[in-house]
Amino acid sequence: GHPVVVVGAGAAGVQTVVALREKGYDGPLLLLGDEPHRPYDRPPLSKSVLLGGDADAVRFDVDFDALGVEVRLGCGARGLRPEARELDTARGPVGYRALVLATGAEPVRLPGAAGLPSVHELRTLDDARRLGPVLAERREVVVVGAGWIGAEFATAATAAGCRVTVVEAADRPLAGALPAEVTGPMRAWYREAGVELRTGVGVRRIEDGAVELADGERLTAGAVLVGVGARPATAWLAGSGVAIGARGDVLADEGLRTSVPDVYAVGDCASFPSARFGGRLLVHHWDNALQGPRAVAASLTGGAGAVYDPVPYFWSEQFGRFVQYAGHHADADTLVRRGDPDGDAWSVCWLREERLVAVLSVGRARDLAQGKRLIASGAPLVRERVADADVPLKSA
Ligand code: FAD
Repeated sequence: GHPVVVVGAGAAGVQTVVALREKGYDGPLLLLGDEPHRPYDRPPLSKSVLLGGDADAVRFDVDFDALGVEVRLGCGARGLRPEARELDTARGPVGYRALVLATGAEPVRLPGAAGLPSVHELRTLDDARRLGPVLAERREVVVVGAGWIGAEFATAATAAGCRVTVVEAADRPLAGALPAEVTGPMRAWYREAGVELRTGVGVRRIEDGAVELADGERLTAGAVLVGVGARPATAWLAGSGVAIGARGDVLADEGLRTSVPDVYAVGDCASFPSARFGGRLLVHHWDNALQGPRAVAASLTGGAGAVYDPVPYFWSEQFGRFVQYAGHHADADTLVRRGDPDGDAWSVCWLREERLVAVLSVGRARDLAQGKRLIASGAPLVRERVADADVPLKSA
C-alpha cells in the first residue's frame, strides 16, 4: 500500500517519522524535503554555525535507514490532489495513505532585496554558510528587524568583531512578541554590546550594500541581514482544498488535522486552536515542532482523539543572556515583575485572574521551570508572592 508521507524534512518532519516508529507504526514511511542537505536543526545556525562552528554537527542524529524511513531530498512538493490521495513533487506524483504537512516557514522578504549579493536572510544552512565570510571578514552590517533572529545575528556578528547597526520600524525590539515594559531593559543589552539600535524608523529601500531609511538617511554596509519575520511555507497548497488562514497558516484542528481527510499539519506551517489559552496559536518555535508530531503520531497509530493543547516554550540566546518564555499571554493579562529588570536575572509573569498564563525569564531558569508547571496545572496564585523574587513560584 501507499506510505505515510511527511512533507518537509525540518525539525517537525523528522520528529514525525521518529514518533511514528516510537508509537509502533511499522508500515512504509516516506520523508520528502526540498533542501538538498541531510535534515538539520536550525537553532544552532544563529548561535554557532555563523561563528564557524561545525556545520555537520547540526544534522539530526537520526538513522533513517535503521528506522526504515525513505528520505527523498531535493524533492519539493508542488501540489496536493486529495481526491486522488496524491502529491505532485519535483520528481513526479506520490501516493499516500496519510499525509503530514511539515513545510515550516520562510523569511518574509522585502521588495527589491531579492538577488542582491550583499543582502542576506537567516533561515537555512545555506544562508548561514553564505553569512560566514561576512563575519569572518568583519564586515560592517546593517540588520533590518530587531526580532529574535535579528538579535541573535547581531550577537554573533558583534562577537565576530563586526560593527552592527540594527534598524527596527517599531518603537522597540521584539515589538511583535512582548510589551514595552518587558523590552525596555533590552535596549541596554544592545548598547552594552556596542550595537547601535535605531527604532521607530522603517526601511524605504534596500540596495546592494546600502539601506535607505524612511527618513531619507542612507546607511551603507558590507552586508545587510533582513530579519523581519517568517511566514508558513504553504503557497504550494493553493487550490488543494486544505484550509489556509490569513497568516498563510494551515488551519489545523485540536488534533492537528487539516480540513482534508487524513492530512495533518505540524510545526511552523500550522496553527491550532488552544482551549487552554483561548484562541488560535501559530507558534514558530522549536518545542512546538517536537511536541506536535507526537500528537499526530498518536492519532495515526490509533490513539483516536489525541488533543494538542501545549504550553508553548522557547528560548533565545542574545547578548550573553539566556531568555526563555513559556505559555501565551494577551495584552489584557496582568504583568508582574520578579527581580530587577536592570540586573542580570529577572522574570516577568502574566496572570489572568489569579492563574499564571505566561512567564518570561532572563537568566532565572528556575522561574521558567516552576512557571511552566503552574501554567500547565492552572493552579491559583497569590499576586504578591509572584512579585517576590526571593520566594519560589508556586501556587497559593
Ligand atoms: P522548518 O525547520 O522550517 O523545516 C521545514 C522544511 O520543509 C524546510 O527544510 C523546508 O525547506 C521544507 N519545505 C518547505 N516547503 C516544502 C515543500 N513544498 N516540499 C518539501 N519540503 C518543503 N526556536 C526556538 O525555540 N529557540 C531558538 O533558539 C531558535 N533559534 C532559531 C534560529 C534560527 C536561525 C532559525 C531559522 C530558527 C530558530 N528557531 C528557534 C525556530 C525553530 O528552528 C523552528 O521553529 C523549527 O525549525 C520549525 O520546524 P519545522 O520543521 O516546522 O520547520
